[in-house]
Formats: sequence, C-alpha cells, structure tokens
Amino acid sequence: MTSESRADGMGKVSLVTGSSRGIGRAIAVELAAGGGQVVVNYAGRVEAAEETARLVRAAGGEALLVQANVRQVSEVERLVQCVLERFGRIDVLVNNAGVTRDGLLVRMKDSDWDEVLETNLRAAFYVTREVARPMMKARYGRIINIASVVGVIGNPGQVNYVASKAGLIGLTKSVAKELAPRHITVNAIAPGWIETDMTEALSPETLASMRSAIPLGRPGKPEDVAAAVGFLASEQANYITGQVLHIDGGMAM
Ligand code: NAP
Repeated sequence: MTSESRADGMGKVSLVTGSSRGIGRAIAVELAAGGGQVVVNYAGRVEAAEETARLVRAAGGEALLVQANVRQVSEVERLVQCVLERFGRIDVLVNNAGVTRDGLLVRMKDSDWDEVLETNLRAAFYVTREVARPMMKARYGRIINIASVVGVIGNPGQVNYVASKAGLIGLTKSVAKELAPRHITVNAIAPGWIETDMTEALSPETLASMRSAIPLGRPGKPEDVAAAVGFLASEQANYITGQVLHIDGGMAM
C-alpha cells in the first residue's frame, strides 16, 4: 500500500492502547471513520472494550479486540503479533494507556512511582519498539503519544505522573528524529482536564481550582483529543513530527 492509497479513512490499520474507555475509546472511534481497521487494546475491562468495538463498527470501521497488559513486554509482543497476523501491518500507533496514583512527594510509595512509570512510560517504549520494526520495513507510520499538560508545566501531588508524561515527551522527540528517515512521524498530544473516569475521582476542590486555570473555562471531552489524533494520523499532517500539541482550553500557553 502506498502512502497515497492510505489517504484518510479507508483501510488504515490503527492500534490504540487502553481504548476500552475514555480518551482511548474516542480515538478508536475517530480512527474507524471511513473504514479504518482499529485494534482495541485493554487491560481488564472486557465489557467496556466490547462497547468500544461496537462503536468502531457503528462508525464504519473494523475492530479487533486484544486484551494485553502493556506493562509486560511479553504481552506487548503478543499484542503486536496478533495485529500483524490479522492485518499484516500497522499504520498508526496511539500510545494512550495510562494510570494515576496521586500523592504528595514525601508520602509517595515506591509502588505508586513504579506502577505509573511502568504503565505510562515504559509501556510506551515497549509498544513503540515493537511497532517500529514493521513500520520501518513499510517506510510509513504515524505514532501519537498521549502525554499531558502537566508533563510540561508540573503539578503538585503528581510527581510520578508528571515525570512519566515529561518522559513520554522526550521519548516522542527522540523517536521522531530516529524514524524520520523512514517517513514515520512521531508526535505527542498534551491534553488538559478531559472528563473521563480518570478525572471523575478528583475532589470538588481540585476540580474547581483546575477549572479556574482554564482560559476557556470548562473541561474538554475525549472527542476533543480524538479530533487532534485524527488530524495527526491523516495525510494532512505529513510534514509534522516531534511536536507536542496542547488540547487544554489554553491552560498552558
Ligand atoms: P481512563 O478513562 O482511566 O482509561 C484508561 C485506559 O487505559 C483504559 O482503557 C484501561 O483499560 C487502559 N489501561 C490502563 N492500564 C493499562 C495496561 N497496563 N495495559 C493496557 N491498558 C491499560 O483514562 P483517560 O482519562 O481516558 O486517559 C487516557 C490517556 O490520556 C492516559 O494516558 C492519561 O494519562 C491521558 N490524559 C488524560 C487526561 C484527563 O484529564 N482525562 C489528561 C491528560 C492526559 P481497562 O479499561 O481495561 O482498565
């Protein structure tokens, strides 16, 4: 398949990690529009993942559900193998799976640090390394990493999460430079406060102070992030690589 015939929609194969819920689900649906083949990866919530697959099909796409804990390198290898066996290639990778284990620095447990760094950063390294090989062979690819605005501006009570997202931005830029000669673009998206299960757990005080820091005065929706992923995955974004696109209502500028 040439890069021209991959032109938006029809026939692109996309792998979205952590797409059973929230932002990942909206991204999966966006990439399905116009006939995309979407791999819906999830950790444990099979019913939620099946609902994403239903929405992917309703949007005109084809869905392949693959349970895999992306913290485990052997599971990442199995995940990528499943995709290649079914579709023969991967055009778009979205590293979206992520978790929070918030707490102040002096009270943070080693296990909270490890879990967040392993899920948000190490897993993205595993999946990117595994997917880079077939993309390099195909001399085509789009890699989009879901970072966070706090990875750029910092946030008290999230030293583990912020370090993981700042690391993901660094990974994005280095991989962008390494893979550019093979026509593979690598970008990051830095969402601000997006309404999902992840932010539902925050206290009303935290949410009020977050709202006051957003010039547009409201949280975003998963679809706001998904639209930006759709653009970066499209042929219109051919000449964009190594960038961090903020989808945050103006929080960081
Ligand atoms: P969410 O609603 O909590 O969903 C998290 C997703 O990640 C779920 O699909 C979950 O699968 C999956 N996941 C977690 N650990 C995994 C693992 N080890 N292996 C495979 N999948 C795993 O989160 P969200 O708010 O949509 O966030 C998505 C991404 O956006 C994250 O990287 C997050 O850091 C980033 N982000 C979110 C916000 C926000 O305000 N919401 C802001 C900035 C950045 P299961 O359903 O199976 O558990």
